[in-house]
Formats: sequence, structure tokens, C-alpha cells
Amino acid sequence: MSFDDPNDVRFRPEDDCPIFSQSLEDHIVAVSRGSQPNAGRFCGNCYTPIGRDTEMCPHCREDTRSGRAPVDAVPGELLEVLRRQRAIESKWVNSFAYLGIVIAAVTGIAIVLWVPFFRDSLIWATLFYGVYLLVGSRVLPAILGGYYGDRIGFEKARAETRAAWAEWVAERDQPRASKDQSSTTKA
Ligand SMILES: [Zn+2]
Repeated sequence: MSFDDPNDVRFRPEDDCPIFSQSLEDHIVAVSRGSQPNAGRFCGNCYTPIGRDTEMCPHCREDTRSGRAPVDAVPGELLEVLRRQRAIESKWVNSFAYLGIVIAAVTGIAIVLWVPFFRDSLIWATLFYGVYLLVGSRVLPAILGGYYGDRIGFEKARAETRAAWAEWVAERDQPRASKDQSSTTKA
């Protein structure tokens, strides 16, 4: 099993949508990078990777014997849903981080122009601005991007994921497919 970058700790609230447990996300990321084939044993409900002998999904508690039969690959549609979720999230994180750099640059100039001491001393003004920018362009993007961008981005992205999941479930559970037949999930 592979894991995301351990520094990449992201906001993960619980909601009513069961897909994308951490282990499923790790699997999809590894598949996308080409470091792992999209094959194994997965919960037939939420597609979390499960062991050969797992009887109950650790993520959504689906019983693999009486509930949906496990599948041997994650459906391609869901790979796409996760890619989209991550793209939306990173767009928000990066935009907020960039905003942090702009704020650091602009407020630094404002301070230098505002304080008489700096206006009179080009050397001190330059030194102050250099240090201010060095610190500000690290701290502000981390706060804005890593905190606010992450939360807002997650909410936006998750809303799309929930909608995609609801659509997927509606299609998957259409009455034309007999319940007793083993699930005919696309690989
Ligand atoms: Zn499950």
C-alpha cells in the first residue's frame, strides 16, 4: 500500500458520502502515477481496498458476503471523480497561497512607504522589506492556502464529489440490474 506525501495533511471531515477513504485515495493516486495497477479487492459499495479475507468493509461497514460483492478494480468513473476533486482542491489551495504572496509584497511596500524612518533610509528600508518578504511570503501562503484555501477547496470539491457519487449510485442501483446477480461493475 502506498501513501500520499506525509506532509500533505489535508482537511478531512466526515460527511454522508462514503467514497474516498484514505486507502482508496492512496490507491487511486498510486494508479494515476503508474506505480500500481488498478487491481485488487475492493468493497463493492465504497471501493475501499480490502484484504482477501475481509468480511466487513472497514470504511462503510458493507458486509462482503450478504451485501454488495467485492470488485477487483475501482471503476474508471470514480478514478475520474477523485482526479477532479483533487484538481479543484489544489486550485483553491494554490490561489490562496498566491494571494498570500501578493499580500506580503504589497503590505511590505506599504509599511516601508508609510514609516518615516524607512523613507529616510534606503538601506534599512531595503533590509526590512527583504526580511519581511522572506518571512511573509512563507507564512501567509501557509496560512491562507494551507488553512483557508484547503477548507474552502475541500468543501467545493466535496460538493461535486457528492453529486457525482449520488449520480453513480443511482445508475449502479437501477432496478433493471437484479439484486441477486453478482455486481457487473465495469473494470
Ligand atoms: Zn466499503
